[in-house]
Amino acid sequence: MSDVIGHYIGGRQVAGTSGRRGDIYNPALGEVVRQVDFASQAEVRQAVEAAKAAQPDWAAQPPLRRARVMFRLKQLLEANMDDLAKVVTEEHGKTIADAKGSITRGLEVVEFACGIPHLLKGEFSEDVGTGVDSFSMRQPLGVVAGITPFNFPAMIPLWMAPMALACGNAFILKPSEKDPSFSLRLAEFFAEAGVPDGVFSVVQGDKEAVNAILTDPDIQAVSFVGATATAEYIYHTGCAHNKRVQALGGAKNHMIVMPDADMEQATDAIMGAAYGSAGERCMAISVAVAVGDEVADNLLERLMPRVRGLKIGPGSDPEVEMGPLNNRQLFDKVNGLIDQGVKEGADLVLDGRGLSLQGYEKGYFMGGSIFDRVTPEMEIYKQEIFGPVLSVVRAPDYASAARMVNEHEYGNGTAIFTRDGDAARHFASTSKIGMVGVNVPIPVPMAFHSFGGWKRSLFGDHHMHGPEGVRFFTKLKTVTARWPTGIRAGAEFTIPTHG
Ligand code: NAD
Repeated sequence: MSDVIGHYIGGRQVAGTSGRRGDIYNPALGEVVRQVDFASQAEVRQAVEAAKAAQPDWAAQPPLRRARVMFRLKQLLEANMDDLAKVVTEEHGKTIADAKGSITRGLEVVEFACGIPHLLKGEFSEDVGTGVDSFSMRQPLGVVAGITPFNFPAMIPLWMAPMALACGNAFILKPSEKDPSFSLRLAEFFAEAGVPDGVFSVVQGDKEAVNAILTDPDIQAVSFVGATATAEYIYHTGCAHNKRVQALGGAKNHMIVMPDADMEQATDAIMGAAYGSAGERCMAISVAVAVGDEVADNLLERLMPRVRGLKIGPGSDPEVEMGPLNNRQLFDKVNGLIDQGVKEGADLVLDGRGLSLQGYEKGYFMGGSIFDRVTPEMEIYKQEIFGPVLSVVRAPDYASAARMVNEHEYGNGTAIFTRDGDAARHFASTSKIGMVGVNVPIPVPMAFHSFGGWKRSLFGDHHMHGPEGVRFFTKLKTVTARWPTGIRAGAEFTIPTHG
């Protein structure tokens, strides 16, 4: 173990003072590589004070200047991509190529934020009354915060912070305590790009830091991504303290495979979407709903050899397709759910448990698993597994497949694979899911659209980044103006109308 990482407050890295710390693991080795200080309420308060002091001047800068800072941030992230991917891989476990992909998806939000002068343009109406004009503007909220999960240590902070900052807010990030090193690199890049001291801060920690954020009277809004139980808690606690909250939660994403689907395309799609990042994606496909036994048999016949042949190893090896799970707790949970699926009577046609890799015996590695004949009553169907485990459900027809998607408690993403335009259109229109793919397995919207689920996959009113990101991080003001040279109506005691 080499070092301890701390917070970033007031434009510099500071060591923690709470005396509480957590271990950070390299999941491929199953060993502690460094530690992270956990912030106390007083340390969170220091970040809030620094943010409060710095935010008004930052908000007063013309949006074009803030956009130029985002352009510089984009260049810095691009120039340091290789190095940043290594930071993500070491603490998360995903492959270097996947880490780069995730940083790129975050970088695209930076690119979107470069257009902030246009995005903050309001509306104008001439002559809303005789000689009276009306215009609207979007103004920053003040100090806002983001709380992020372990599975995307770079992408999700980059979904939030550039939007918040470009809109003129000061932003405090509380990253996952499992892979927090990227956050400090990001803080340095923001500073180098021209973000003033105090406008971007990082407080490391656990529940104590989160509660300090949720109850701080000077934090106006909280953006959260993580598990549903945490998301629900964050939403209710934040709202009870009069904050604007968006809390994105867990998922169980179904992919319907219709009898007319291109089976080769569907198989490729499942391989990447179910086993990429070892299934630790909120948009992973964890349920394949095969319409008809023939489709199920065909799909399994194609999938089995490919899942068996997955190249599994440390994410730093460029040949590897699937790295380890991120942590021991999750590793135990996924193994436990596989045991439970067997007990519940699902057919475990491929068992990824018990994988041991030479030289990495303590790493959190699993092979890919497939369950066949999974039914909606089973825990492995109900729960988000968040590991490399695919459940195949056999549905008699399209209607029952679509009903299953709609009846599941989660509503993040879904996909349909078909050549039938009517079925695809019907599914896109009627599914109770926030993001739908048609022959696209992971329909994560691009940065200029917005990301978010329905049902228990999102608490709050706003989706993330894109136009919704601007709405979340700003408040609307509408000005109605009349000049003294205009027509005088005298004192009016009734509500003004055009009557
Ligand atoms: P998590 O909920 O355990 O942790 C997320 C954040 O909340 C972390 O910063 C953590 O420190 C904090 N936290 C955890 N427990 C807390 C508690 N009891 N009180 C206060 N704060 C707490 O989630 P995770 O394990 O880091 O991430 C995996 C989950 O995130 C999965 O469920 C996944 O689906 C979900 N996720 C969702 C999306 C989405 O966009 N909907 C995206 C990525 C991940």
